[in-house]
Amino acid sequence: MPERYDAIVIGAGPAGYVAAIRAAQLGLKTACIEQWRDGGALRLGGTCLNVGCIPSKALLDSSWKYHEAAGGALARHGIGIGKAALDVPAMMARKDAIVSQLTGGIAGLFKSNGVAALPGAGRVLAGRKVEYRDADGKSMALEAGGVIIAAGSLPAELPPAPVDGKTIVDSAGALAFAEAPARLGIIGAGVIGLELGSVWRRCGSEVVLLEALDDFLPMMDADIAKHAERIFRKQGLDIRLGAKVTGAKVKGGKAEVSYSVKSGAEEKAVFDKLIVCVGRRPRTENLLAADCGVKLDGRGFIEVDDYCETAVPGVYAVGDCVRGPMLAHKGSEEGAMAAERLAGKKAHMNYGVIPNVIYTHPEVAAVGKHERELKAAGADIKTGAFPFAASGRALAAGESDGMVKLIADAATDRLLGCHIIGPSAADLAQQAVIAMEFGASAEDLG
Ligand code: FAD
Ligand code: AMP
Repeated sequence: MPERYDAIVIGAGPAGYVAAIRAAQLGLKTACIEQWRDGGALRLGGTCLNVGCIPSKALLDSSWKYHEAAGGALARHGIGIGKAALDVPAMMARKDAIVSQLTGGIAGLFKSNGVAALPGAGRVLAGRKVEYRDADGKSMALEAGGVIIAAGSLPAELPPAPVDGKTIVDSAGALAFAEAPARLGIIGAGVIGLELGSVWRRCGSEVVLLEALDDFLPMMDADIAKHAERIFRKQGLDIRLGAKVTGAKVKGGKAEVSYSVKSGAEEKAVFDKLIVCVGRRPRTENLLAADCGVKLDGRGFIEVDDYCETAVPGVYAVGDCVRGPMLAHKGSEEGAMAAERLAGKKAHMNYGVIPNVIYTHPEVAAVGKHERELKAAGADIKTGAFPFAASGRALAAGESDGMVKLIADAATDRLLGCHIIGPSAADLAQQAVIAMEFGASAEDLG
């Protein structure tokens, strides 16, 4: 193994694997260090491919098909299929096969682009060196022309509710249940909690979401959040706002949870399974030597500038371990940018047009600014909203719940934000992303 590379990437999630492939494509001799193991074998793809976006989307699609078949949606189209049956192990096997196909695909891409995949752990040393501890625990210092740190994130712990991996699980555990729990508790009604709650609700679980905040989805546009709350409650999700979990323990194979409510009273609930999904935190343990010069901010994220360069020239950090939304495509874009800058190109990134999606049914998708933040900043704006109930196409599909809301500058008509809840919201929001990247007006999009 060579001891010097032009680019060393730490982490092979969507931020790191894209960075490594791009660096190699630009002619840099590139290595990517990844510690994830499946049995003995190296696993590329990070959180997103292994225990995040991809397995959750696979289960969301499978569970939706079951729900449509079992819930009478097909009968309304005049299609009789008898009684639908759910085979959770088969659903899981399908998900696992998709994950394997994709992680194997990254290995193939590394090979075809000439990226050296180094199994083991990386640590940033001073002077653009990286300590590489291989799979057998043997350690060596590698020299790098440039370093890209893409160490990602881990589920945030909630100390009063420790995960035991069986009854109380994190998001990864909830993607691998052997059967639908009769009664499922979820701490945190954020994006991940709502997606996982939807999966298991459709599979027949009684689902209770305990959310500390009084507002539902406060990071979304207020009109969209109001719509979403109504729709999700109608789907049977028992969403309890202002419910702050103060303790959880396993007793007799069940999770006993205590939580405080708005009045200050303590309530209790018992679940067959409990998912803790109260956010994610940057993963920086054993990653940075004390004298390496790379700094963390007050929240534990690696400090970077607008181009993802750390305080050390030539050392970049991208993806979930740096500021900004924890989204796969955000990290990938940053990874590509960092690789291009290492290769001497003047790449930049438009952080104003990163879309975000909640893959519930209907989907919730957004790009750009919210009405409330624009108003708080004193911006002169105009808004337009359209309900799917008025769309003939949506009615024909039997998918008429939801709305689209556009926000534009009152004087210039420039599109500033697009917020959607409804059928194919993710695909529709994509059109607004392109329009905004090109500086389009609301009239152009119309
Ligand atoms: P990660 O994917 O976390 O990868 C980091 C990699 O670095 C890991 O493989 C880790 O093993 C490795 N690593 C860390 N430290 C070291 C070290 N010292 N040495 C060697 N290797 C190291 N995002 C979306 O955009 N859309 C979605 O629909 C979506 N759904 C999600 C659903 C769930 C349930 C979860 C949990 C997340 C979801 N996300 C989604 C978020 C998405 O998974 C993350 O934003 C994305 O994976 C971040 O990419 P990353 O490369 O920065 O980090
Ligand atoms: P997200 O950041 O989208 O993953 O959402 C995580 C959610 O968990 C947030 O809405 C938090 O308010 C919520 N949360 C954090 N701690 C608690 C707690 N102790 N009890 C209930 N909800 C919590």
